[in-house]
Amino acid sequence: MSKQLVAIIGGGPYGLSLASHLAARNVPHRIFGQPMAFWSQIARAGSRRYLKSYCFGTNISSPHPGSTFADYNEPRGLETFEPCSIANFAEYGLWFQERHVDWIEPVDVANVSRRGQGYLLTLSNGDAVEASDVIVATGLANFAKMPHALRALPGALATHTARVDSFAAFQGLEVAVLGSGQSSLEAAALLHEAGASPRLLIRKPSTLWMTRGSRTPTLWQRIRWPVSALGGSPKAWALTQLPGAFHRLPACGRALFLRNFLPPEGAWWLRERVEALVPVEYDTSVVAGQAIGNRVSLCLRGADKQDRELLVDRVIAGTGYEVNVERIPFLAPELRSAIARQGCAPRLDASFQSSVRGLRFAGPASSMSFGPVFRFVAGAEYTARTIAAALSRTAMART
Ligand SMILES: Cc1cc2nc3c(=O)[nH]c(=O)nc-3n(C[C@H](O)[C@H](O)[C@H](O)COP(=O)(O)OP(=O)(O)OC[C@H]3O[C@@H](n4cnc5c(N)ncnc54)[C@H](O)[C@@H]3O)c2cc1C
Repeated sequence: MSKQLVAIIGGGPYGLSLASHLAARNVPHRIFGQPMAFWSQIARAGSRRYLKSYCFGTNISSPHPGSTFADYNEPRGLETFEPCSIANFAEYGLWFQERHVDWIEPVDVANVSRRGQGYLLTLSNGDAVEASDVIVATGLANFAKMPHALRALPGALATHTARVDSFAAFQGLEVAVLGSGQSSLEAAALLHEAGASPRLLIRKPSTLWMTRGSRTPTLWQRIRWPVSALGGSPKAWALTQLPGAFHRLPACGRALFLRNFLPPEGAWWLRERVEALVPVEYDTSVVAGQAIGNRVSLCLRGADKQDRELLVDRVIAGTGYEVNVERIPFLAPELRSAIARQGCAPRLDASFQSSVRGLRFAGPASSMSFGPVFRFVAGAEYTARTIAAALSRTAMART
């Protein structure tokens, strides 16, 4: 196709930021997806859910002033530091979308395949759209990582934290929750508060909890623990200040860094909702799971290498996410197989473009190339600016 039309897939913080920046540069584009669907689902699944990130580090990006999360919260008397509620963030996203991206088309993309030099998108309503460039900004939802031991169990008995639509639906049930990160600790708290009996199963010998950041840090605290969107450490601060620098590291260094940065830990405000309320078994791995009628028998292995059985009503895995191109359901198989990888993630150039010309990935799917900031909303600004600049250069070259 000779004319430029960019298709953005996804109406979350990254998709909305991209659309806002492309519009400011007059790059022709369309954006598809239910706005803020992922965040609205998280908010609906349980009340008292909060962001782990600071308000200032959770902005949807626009070149127009007055669009930050704090700009939305302040006049409404809502929290402007931490913890900010997830329902509040979902509402901010919808407010942003109405003000800056009112052309979003709330329809899913069912398929993307190559068409000549460009792409053919089939929408879930049956419409077809030709595009010169495609940006995949569909977040984490396709990448939920389920432990091998639970994969054969029916979804009604064993699920991932990302797929829980209602914690209240577990009321009265005994639930094993796997994992030691924010998702599993939060799931345990929400289950307990909904009248279920959760039990945390954690492979490590202890739980890590974040410490509360000071709202008015001293000069020494600011130097020693500079606060950034990723928390209070010099390394985190450097990553957020130089978001493009990570991309210049050698591939093996990037993978190692990503594995070791930000270990699983719970937010400080969650601690009192879990400790002393939810039983925890440390040094415990789930090695097998089997459905027995409407219950699940788990085979647990402790530090002493002894196996034992735990019978529960349900299992929820808070076992994180793994970016994997093979699990993006709407990419045609021949397109998927043409994408060069780093591990299972797409390998991206400095403008977020994959090895397939015109196909870009934004958000968590870009974190293997661009670093941990891009697992979070904080990476949206750099992503949107960089991609909009690259596509605006392409637009000029075509005219
Ligand atoms: C429980 C939880 C808590 C989190 N807390 C934080 C936090 O405190 N701070 C932070 O920065 N990050 C947090 N994250 C990470 C956060 O989810 C991501 O950083 C962020 O959502 C990425 O934005 P996105 O736009 O890439 O994806 P999303 O927000 O997931 O948006 C993707 C959008 O794409 C749409 N979509 C999917 N498939 C299609 C399709 N085929 N066609 C059209 N549209 C489609 C979805 O409906 C969705 O609206 C959290 C994640 C989880 C699971």
